Amino acid sequence: MKKKIIKCPQCQKEFNYYESEYRPFCSERCKMIDLGHWLSEEYTIPVSPANLDDEENEEDEL
Ligand SMILES: [Zn+2]
Repeated sequence: MKKKIIKCPQCQKEFNYYESEYRPFCSERCKMIDLGHWLSEEYTIPVSPANLDDEENEEDEL
């Protein structure tokens, strides 16, 4: 088997790249943590805040 030692981007642990099913992460756990970061960042983006503001402003003017 090939051997290539790299550092996990998540936990910084060194492991054999070719032995991990979850590369470039060392384990499923680290992969899920990274995935979780991406998902939580997407959730923080507000959905169409401009449209909500417009509606509120129109009500105020009327
Ligand atoms: Zn890791």
